[in-house]
Amino acid sequence: MLYINGEWRKSNCGDTLEVMNPATGQLIKSVASGGREETREAIECAKEAFKTWKKATGEQRGSYLAEAVKKMKEKADDIAETITLEMGKPLLDAKREVAGAISYLDWYAEEAKRIYGETIAASHPDKHLMVLREPVGVTAAITPWNFPSSMITRKIAPAIAAGCTVVLKPAPSTPLSAIKVFECFHEAELPKGVVNLVIGPAEEIGDEMTENPDVRKLTFTGSTNVGKLLMRKSANTVKKVSMELGGHAPLIVFADADLEAAVQGVLLTKFRNAGQTCISTNRIYVAESIANEFGKKLAQEVEKLTVGNGIEEGIDVGPLINSLALEKVESHVEDAIRKNGKVLCGGRRVEITKGHFYEPTVINNAHDDMKISTEETFGPVAPIFTFKDEAEIIQRANHESYGLAAYCFTNDLGRGHRMVKELEYGIIGINDASPIVPQAPFGGIKESGIGKEGGKSGLLEYLEEKFVSINMGN
Ligand code: NAP
Repeated sequence: MLYINGEWRKSNCGDTLEVMNPATGQLIKSVASGGREETREAIECAKEAFKTWKKATGEQRGSYLAEAVKKMKEKADDIAETITLEMGKPLLDAKREVAGAISYLDWYAEEAKRIYGETIAASHPDKHLMVLREPVGVTAAITPWNFPSSMITRKIAPAIAAGCTVVLKPAPSTPLSAIKVFECFHEAELPKGVVNLVIGPAEEIGDEMTENPDVRKLTFTGSTNVGKLLMRKSANTVKKVSMELGGHAPLIVFADADLEAAVQGVLLTKFRNAGQTCISTNRIYVAESIANEFGKKLAQEVEKLTVGNGIEEGIDVGPLINSLALEKVESHVEDAIRKNGKVLCGGRRVEITKGHFYEPTVINNAHDDMKISTEETFGPVAPIFTFKDEAEIIQRANHESYGLAAYCFTNDLGRGHRMVKELEYGIIGINDASPIVPQAPFGGIKESGIGKEGGKSGLLEYLEEKFVSINMGN
């Protein structure tokens, strides 16, 4: 169903979209699919709603978000199950995702009260200079399938806390989770038109969102190529944009590191969500002197991971989202093997029902000329590269175009600080493989994105500064 102006409805021409289960290849459900016309209607409603929503106090906006938190907690298990069914991650991970999604609503429910302006020292005694922060306006949001609930709340929570209204397009493979999240907003009785959901063909919806001058802000999470396209399309109406794009995270293990912790770090950053995460480790750089030991320990742990339908108990790695994703992973592994990569474990498809499963894989002897060293694999494949010294690894770890997340394991405090200074990434975890929290800014540099989500910075993305100069003299 589409959700426009506080009502659940079908599309104007009755089109539908089939949602498939990637673990079984079976149809889960058909949902209404709208296009340009419905997007335009949703934008008009969001524009109308903005007139009053922007005047609500921070406390009022925060209280709606707090109500949405309650509703989402009540439905948490149901939403998690829906996530597992439509995108495949194991149920426990889906529950973790929903908890994360709620944490953004919760944090911005409080932060809605904390929007501040500034006064500036004037150059004339009769002048009073102020900076006001006001909501940008109607916001168009586009989200991917890999975190189908938290990617939504990470955008909507700060947007409505700031006083913006939103039209959201989720990924077509995961509209059911989006519908469940919007049910929470509906039950929290958010005023009509404040949040709207349009499901349907990307280009049609995207064109309306980018070309419509009433949309003043575009926030996108997805691949770098689509992000660039949307930036180009938004240029004609000079929209404010936030882009959360692709990544290619290095994970560096120095010889002085706690190896057990580093192995656990790889398990978390590489195999959770079957490696389909923008901050997934893509390159594991291990100091030459400990590389064999590390590879052995990692492969031993990876072999214990259970692959299967995430809805069943005890599953660690679910299916990939579709057959194209599976083919990409396969091609990266084949390329690595052709270029003398050694498979320590995994390396093949897993035939379970009609799902898109791939074995958790560790590849030793990885090289910088392999596809896996520059392209996002988006799958459960861990390539181990070796390095000699700090200077070399700083130069190799910095990707030429991506700059989202990087991880480093070392027990040398000074080295940890030097790595923080030298690594060109928006998020850095030192001996920490799970650095993401709602109160901190999440986002990349270089071609991994523009702008931040989370924390105070996340709220500023939805606010515009207005400078006021008052001449108090007669
Ligand atoms: P994608 O192909 O770029 O799609 C993302 C969203 O954009 C989907 O809803 C998609 O709909 C839509 N889209 C595609 N073309 C569009 C167009 N011309 N106009 C408007 N919307 C359009 O990315 P994905 O494969 O779903 O997600 C994986 C990528 O997202 C990876 O690169 C990953 O690193 C990145 N990601 C980044 C972050 C971050 O925070 N930095 C977080 C999660 C994921 P359709 O599916 O219908 O095309």
